[in-house]
Amino acid sequence: MLAMAGDGTDAAFVDEVEPTVTISEYMDGIEAEELEADLVLGGDDGNECTYGAGYLKRQAVFSCLTCVPDGVAGVCTACCLACHDGHEVVELWTKRNFRCDCGNSKFGGHLCKLSPEKDPENPANSYNQNFKGSYCTCSRPYPDPEAKEQVEMIQCCICEDWFHEDHIGLDSLEKIPRDEEGEPLYEEFICHQCSPVCYFLKLYPDTIWASSKQSSASEAVTADSNGMEGGSSGHADTEKNENGAPVDRQSIENTSVEENCTKDIAASDKSILGDNSGGNCKIGVDINTTSADSEKTMPFFMSKGWRETLCKCGTCTNFYAQRGIAHLTDKEDSIEEYEKIAKQKREKKLEQQEGAEANFINSLNHVQKIEILSGINDMKNEFQSFMESFDPSKPVTSDDVKSIFENLARKKQRLS
Ligand SMILES: [Zn+2]
Ligand SMILES: [Zn+2]
Ligand SMILES: [Zn+2]
Ligand SMILES: [Zn+2]
Ligand SMILES: [Zn+2]
Ligand SMILES: [Zn+2]
Repeated sequence: MLAMAGDGTDAAFVDEVEPTVTISEYMDGIEAEELEADLVLGGDDGNECTYGAGYLKRQAVFSCLTCVPDGVAGVCTACCLACHDGHEVVELWTKRNFRCDCGNSKFGGHLCKLSPEKDPENPANSYNQNFKGSYCTCSRPYPDPEAKEQVEMIQCCICEDWFHEDHIGLDSLEKIPRDEEGEPLYEEFICHQCSPVCYFLKLYPDTIWASSKQSSASEAVTADSNGMEGGSSGHADTEKNENGAPVDRQSIENTSVEENCTKDIAASDKSILGDNSGGNCKIGVDINTTSADSEKTMPFFMSKGWRETLCKCGTCTNFYAQRGIAHLTDKEDSIEEYEKIAKQKREKKLEQQEGAEANFINSLNHVQKIEILSGINDMKNEFQSFMESFDPSKPVTSDDVKSIFENLARKKQRLS
């Protein structure tokens, strides 16, 4: 990360020395990295092998190519840290329905340090090409050393492989529902290889499909109704044209009327499509009679909450199980739910940390308390004088940080 300093001369200077960041950027960076890590790990603190908990609905999984070069094994977070330190490890983000393989028959005698008692294999585990470090229909590694720039990939919620947007069988990337900033407007993606399995989704109302057209129109309508953006002047009209699509007020109005109609239909759909577990089938026709068109298969982009509308009648449930997609009706399976639980665990952890610090201070005797508090005070003073001697807009180098701690150490030596 390179800090942009106030003026051109500073920036040039920064460029030549070393990559630097300002203190607030540094702290924000740590926050963001911690949050990101906590989300992937799902609040797992990574101390214990998850093998004992069986096949977890979702967990972070790693593949060690040093131990299992053909990528037919996966290990949990704790094992990745404790048993495969320094090995060539592929980070697979999260996988569903997986049980830790560390040290089992696939590891050729390399024992697990945390949970050595394991069955030779976990028969329900499935291993796609990601375990070998390959992704997408093009089977390239990520990051790709031969690519000019690393583009983000999207994960299919059925096969859990990752795809380049231009490798999902679309003739135009415009067909991917995105807002004007290019942010995805879909909650989940089903790749063109998995969409035939999910062809029955075509029997559901349009509201389960993500659509860029409707959403951008509703945004424009919201902007209008609060009256703040552009008002009745032509300004807003030109502003909406940033993505190159010709959007005029007339067409927005037309779309919003259409959208309202869709909303009404959606509301009545919802009442028909309420929870029906065990009851009548929501879709009215036998789900087993649905089959994909013989024409070229397309990827599916699903709207927010689409899984909740899926029918849970006996026939449909059997169908999902036969096709290996029963996870779709399990709320806990979605990445969204996984991250929600991870966030809750993270908040609890942070609260506990704060509590532990307070308890620690309270358990000390008076002299110890004074010493710690004066230590904190020294740190504060050192930091304060550093900040005063320093232009806060300027980047901080690692040498600067080192010098704060060296000054503190010197003070400690003087005192003792
Ligand atoms: Zn493990
Ligand atoms: Zn290893
Ligand atoms: Zn292990
Ligand atoms: Zn690709
Ligand atoms: Zn797929
Ligand atoms: Zn049904």
